[in-house]
Amino acid sequence: MSKVIISVKGLVKHYGHFEAVKGISFDVQEGEIFGLLGPNGAGKSTTLEIIETLREKTAGEVIVDGFNLDSDPNEIKKIIGVQLQTSGFYPGLNLLELIDLFAGLYNRNIDPRELLKSVNLEDKAKNKYKELSGGQKQRFSIATTLINQPKIIFLDEPTTGLDPQARRNLWDLVQKIRSQGTTVIITTHYMDEAEVLCDRIAIIDSGKIIALDTPDKLIDELVATGFERPKEVKKANLEDVFINLTGHALRGE
Ligand code: ADP
Repeated sequence: MSKVIISVKGLVKHYGHFEAVKGISFDVQEGEIFGLLGPNGAGKSTTLEIIETLREKTAGEVIVDGFNLDSDPNEIKKIIGVQLQTSGFYPGLNLLELIDLFAGLYNRNIDPRELLKSVNLEDKAKNKYKELSGGQKQRFSIATTLINQPKIIFLDEPTTGLDPQARRNLWDLVQKIRSQGTTVIITTHYMDEAEVLCDRIAIIDSGKIIALDTPDKLIDELVATGFERPKEVKKANLEDVFINLTGHALRGE
């Protein structure tokens, strides 16, 4: 039986008179890939940033690995990894130097080359961040979330703007990180991605959770209502055609 690593109860966030998060509750199990889905403006980032200790909540209770957000935010910071906005990377430093810098900030002794190897970027160790492709940038930013050997990582739309190969490569990386025991919370606008990657998903709309289950269960529930796709589903889609024609290997590496 797995344990609850994140517990959110009755979370509320007001921006002035606007209620962005309207009393949401959910649990994340240790070791799962948990997806937070929803249209723009639904309240996903607000919710995540509150759990990440980066934003004040208005009301509710958040417990992360036994630590209460109200009393122990610093303990929570120690066990989570958060993807930085890309603008946070000093343009003049190479990847090894950037990792050294972050390791120093976290007071961690890690082997930067090993970390780069784990995200398939060992060949780019001496390159600057700005010299990387989109997929490489995402892999590097995921590497930086792992520097403090966190129990939980938060990935905010990690595959937005990537080509199909780079996107699938990132799925492999996320699955590898999870297989090493790290819990992953991810947001995405790609439903195929959520279906492949996530053990469970919560769908948020206008500050409320409107569905929470495994992708399989949610699909079965919809089918049980009599829903049918308007046209017959083919055994492949256009993305399969693209991948089949252009190959699985990454480009620009
Ligand atoms: P999502 O991540 O799902 O796109 P957000 O959490 O970013 O949604 O935003 C939820 C709502 O809160 C949106 O209507 C947004 O405009 C509003 N909002 C977000 N941040 C602020 C802020 N700092 N001040 C005022 N309103 C905000």
